[in-house]
Amino acid sequence: TKFVEIRGVSKTYHTLDEETKALDKLSFDVDRGEIVIIVGPSGCGKSTILSIIAGLMKPSSGEVFINGNQIKSTNKSVGYMFQSDHLFRWRTIMENVLIGLEIQNKVTAQNINRVEKLLDTYGLAEFKNHYPNQLSGGMRQRVALIRTLAIEPELLLLDEPFSALDYQSRLAVSDDIAGIIKKEKKTAIMVTHDIAEAISM
Ligand code: ADP
Ligand code: ADP
Repeated sequence: TKFVEIRGVSKTYHTLDEETKALDKLSFDVDRGEIVIIVGPSGCGKSTILSIIAGLMKPSSGEVFINGNQIKSTNKSVGYMFQSDHLFRWRTIMENVLIGLEIQNKVTAQNINRVEKLLDTYGLAEFKNHYPNQLSGGMRQRVALIRTLAIEPELLLLDEPFSALDYQSRLAVSDDIAGIIKKEKKTAIMVTHDIAEAISM
């Protein structure tokens, strides 16, 4: 079996006066260690498929398997990185990066040590007691990625992670993020409407 298997996934949204078919029998596989990028215009269903893989939303039909197991609800082995960094402005970088571990009740000395090493490896050690507003947009996205990595997910989902950045920093940051994902040997699925960004990843 493949690491991630998407099998005939459809999703129809129902609102008061209309139905929107966001996904129509979508199937694809992702191998362990692969970085898969899905490119398409706004409204084509990119966020929908990521939410379904993350277990945040149920498909109308079809199935998703991770490691051969059908996903049912939110899955601890999946890390989700959003469009904007979603960092808490009143928490320091270190406090932000530890949030996922706090939620999972896993703030141990060993985990703190591991997170500090991640911050160090990716040039953020000196900012760990800073607040998000003291960092550039690109640095904040790097913090957001490290926060996602802190819970040691097997699969990373990235929803337009550079769209909040200006054009100049976008390509540099996408290169940076791709490097981190490869170095940490993660599997990733990223969605974007920006073909230049996809190519640069
Ligand atoms: P993308 O991420 O590619 O922009 P989305 O997955 O957000 O696309 O949306 C796919 C389609 O489903 C769009 O037509 C969108 O308007 C519609 N849609 C998304 N979320 C909802 C929702 N909660 N209720 C109704 N329609 C939705
Ligand atoms: P942006 O347009 O992404 O917000 P900034 O003007 O905030 O960029 O930052 C430009 C560069 O300055 C960043 O790439 C970063 O290397 C550096 N930088 C930003 N904030 C700080 C800070 N608080 N301390 C040190 N260097 C910083």
